Amino acid sequence: MDWSLRSCARNGHITYRPDETELAQQLVVETAVGQAWKCLRCGAFIPENPFAFGPADNAPEVPHAGQIRDRFIIRFLGLERGIRGLIVFIVGLAVWRLQISQETLVDHLNSALPLLKPFADQIGWNMNDSGIINFLSSLLSTSPHTLYLITIALLAYGLLQIVEGTGLWYQKRWAEYLAVVATSAFIPLEIFELTHKITFLRAGALVVNIAAVIWLLWTKHLFGLNGGAAAAHDESVKGRAAINYAINMHSRLEMATTESH
Ligand SMILES: [Zn+2]
Repeated sequence: MDWSLRSCARNGHITYRPDETELAQQLVVETAVGQAWKCLRCGAFIPENPFAFGPADNAPEVPHAGQIRDRFIIRFLGLERGIRGLIVFIVGLAVWRLQISQETLVDHLNSALPLLKPFADQIGWNMNDSGIINFLSSLLSTSPHTLYLITIALLAYGLLQIVEGTGLWYQKRWAEYLAVVATSAFIPLEIFELTHKITFLRAGALVVNIAAVIWLLWTKHLFGLNGGAAAAHDESVKGRAAINYAINMHSRLEMATTESH
């Protein structure tokens, strides 16, 4: 898949006439219908007036094919994280509501116990010695706390995923770091889950998350990997770099005209 062509088809070509003649000459060809300017993104010669002009240093930012593909993948990751975060957050809210009703359940049970006692006495059932009542009581007395912790964890994790997803959608570098750290942090938990019970969904999620971490670390040059931030910066082509990138870009039309000579 040619990501540059896909992007040009969707957003239109980016042509630019630099004021520097020696650079402009390398971006323009004379055709039967007039001048055609080389698209800074896909390298095709477009038989129209340049989209913009000015000093080479002011040329617009042009993400090249690899970057366009990477941005697409990152947006997809961001969307996935955002939706997952939203679901987890809603589940957290549901547990929070359950916690409230659970507390009232304890209150109800506490107030109901003295009322139940005469009936229990009638059938000779000692409630204080009852294993079931003790178990229920202990469960209800410890559960609110457990539910409270679960609520906090779910809401926090949901929020984290929403923030991460939003940041990834807007191509923020901090979000890439956050995604790597947060995803890595949950990998041991996912492995633990797998040791408990292996399901296709769990195994799939683990594989996807490990792949996402490795992919982010490498292609986004995080933690100094693969050339580090300097290399990541170099990938962003704008100004003179975008002009030079376009000049050196292979062009189909250029080949066609040289062949016909
Ligand atoms: Zn183009």
